[in-house]
Amino acid sequence: METIIEYFSDMPTPHRTFLLVGGLAFFFIIEQAIPLFSIKYNRVKHTALNLFFTLTTVLINFIMAFILVYAADWVVVNEFGIIQWIPMPIILKAIIGLLLMDLIGAWFVHWTEHHVKWMWMFHVIHHTDQNIDTTSANRHHPGESVIRFVFTTLAIVIIGAPIWLVFIYQSMSLVLTQFNHSNIKMPTWLDRSLELVFCTPNMHRVHHHYRQPYSDTNYGNIFSFWDKIFGTYERVDNKKLVYGVDTYMEEEKTKSLIELLKIPFMGYKEPIEYDNEESL
Ligand SMILES: [Zn+2]
Repeated sequence: METIIEYFSDMPTPHRTFLLVGGLAFFFIIEQAIPLFSIKYNRVKHTALNLFFTLTTVLINFIMAFILVYAADWVVVNEFGIIQWIPMPIILKAIIGLLLMDLIGAWFVHWTEHHVKWMWMFHVIHHTDQNIDTTSANRHHPGESVIRFVFTTLAIVIIGAPIWLVFIYQSMSLVLTQFNHSNIKMPTWLDRSLELVFCTPNMHRVHHHYRQPYSDTNYGNIFSFWDKIFGTYERVDNKKLVYGVDTYMEEEKTKSLIELLKIPFMGYKEPIEYDNEESL
């Protein structure tokens, strides 16, 4: 445990870069070999667009990283936050800290983005992707990257997370989001076993179905049980899914960088109401 803490207390930037690039490359290759949906779209164009948003996400997090570091140091010095207040062994601090970082920094921010109109206008860019694969993981409007950063900082303060915990969380969060967006055909037994703890591709894909109520389910990123606890869990035969978001299905818009960047400033679009209660 000591060695892990030591490593993550000062995780070298090249290692973080390797995780981002290596993770993407790893899942990208598996998708190419065993895809769930056969790849009929232009993969180069699709990847280029999603990588642009990945780079803006990295850039925003890099520019504001000093705030995270400051918050993580502040909670330790001032013994502030849940895991600082309650005495417990270091391994428990790590586990409880990770769980709560995922709850506040991923599940809760994501749920909020689906329920607060102005946040949804930024988050919808993530949902406009009609071909979900591992490159979709960080397809976030720069405005959404800022929103997520604010919630991560808030999580650090509430939890009392030291910097090593923040780095463990961010590393796991990155790999899990690349994994659960990937277009990989996995054996059911493997998916079901992993899903006891983690958000698998089978679970997260449902969230990318083009219409409600499915797009308002499975908000989780690392751990699968938040959705089960809060009643937002849904299981669906993935082959029946249609990716995208019904309010923005026009291809010219969902594949244009400029159009996507403009969406949050073009006014809120009310969700489409359907006569039939769709069942998949
Ligand atoms: Zn979403």
